Amino acid sequence: MAAGDDVAGLVAQAREGRPRAVARLISLVESESPRLREVSAALSPHVGHAHVVGLTGSPGVGKSTTTAALVSALRQRGQRVGVLAVDPTSPFSGGALLGDRIRMSDHATDAGVYIRSMASRGHLGGLSWATPQALRVLDAAGCDVILLETVGVGQSEVEIAGLADTTLVLLAPGMGDGVQAAKAGILEIGDVFVVNKADRDGAASTRRELRSVLGMAQRPEGAWRPPIVMTVASTGEGLDVLVEHVDAHREHLGAGELQRRRHDRIRREIRAITLETVRRRVGDLSGHAGLDDLAAQVLAGSTDPFAAADQLLEQL
Ligand code: GDP
Repeated sequence: MAAGDDVAGLVAQAREGRPRAVARLISLVESESPRLREVSAALSPHVGHAHVVGLTGSPGVGKSTTTAALVSALRQRGQRVGVLAVDPTSPFSGGALLGDRIRMSDHATDAGVYIRSMASRGHLGGLSWATPQALRVLDAAGCDVILLETVGVGQSEVEIAGLADTTLVLLAPGMGDGVQAAKAGILEIGDVFVVNKADRDGAASTRRELRSVLGMAQRPEGAWRPPIVMTVASTGEGLDVLVEHVDAHREHLGAGELQRRRHDRIRREIRAITLETVRRRVGDLSGHAGLDDLAAQVLAGSTDPFAAADQLLEQL
């Protein structure tokens, strides 16, 4: 821990909107520093305000262009925006990853926007460990909306969607996405579907295909019906309509459904932390004093390996 990492002070500064404090707090949670628990506890009274919007879809579909366009649209309304770009495959973190993401550079000097990238490869617990904490930092820092974008490929797309209040699933014509998405189970997680690159041939048929697949889904009376929005993220076309649908979804969730989603999300988070904690303790077992004893007992035939494992678990 570097000098000056007074957690309470950093949280207070972050709440005043100081970008350096926000960045430092995210570094603390990301690096699993011994301060992680302290940071998490200090954030607790200040979270729950931000609307977390996840963007998911195959690489090249336009996620990062759409994220940048959404930032512009939300900033025009005067909202504070956080962007968390998570790369489940990269071992690099921080500025490196976003350095070449030129489209975001328009917003780099805007005090109302926090942009952060995180890598999660190599993290014990992966996405489920550090990402919710980074979201909490941005939330406590007063972001009205946090855009959570996955960079790179992976099944973690679905995992990311589990962290969002509203999930946008992006498709684009000519990528065979309609079929692919159905396979990946991504159609179930979309609250709003975006057919991006609507300036390209085939956009209308992608929408048609999507509409027919979505139409087959059984939905209870009064349930949210995911809309399909056509966008050209590179010019901003359709972005206002997209923002309206995001708002409408937030409104549809209301207080009750939103709390239920967040409750489920926190349940998963606690479970992940618990499992990870147990895994770490178990990882240290090779030096556990009782292990030799139990092995000797199994060898002597006085107990069996399953009973021995149960005994060991009780000692953890
Ligand atoms: P990501 O990998 O999903 O984040 O996709 P990017 O946002 O990096 O976009 C991939 C490429 O598609 C880039 O070259 C973008 O400029 C381009 N692109 C994004 N949106 C559009 C669009 O609406 N129309 C067209 N023609 N190109 C787009």
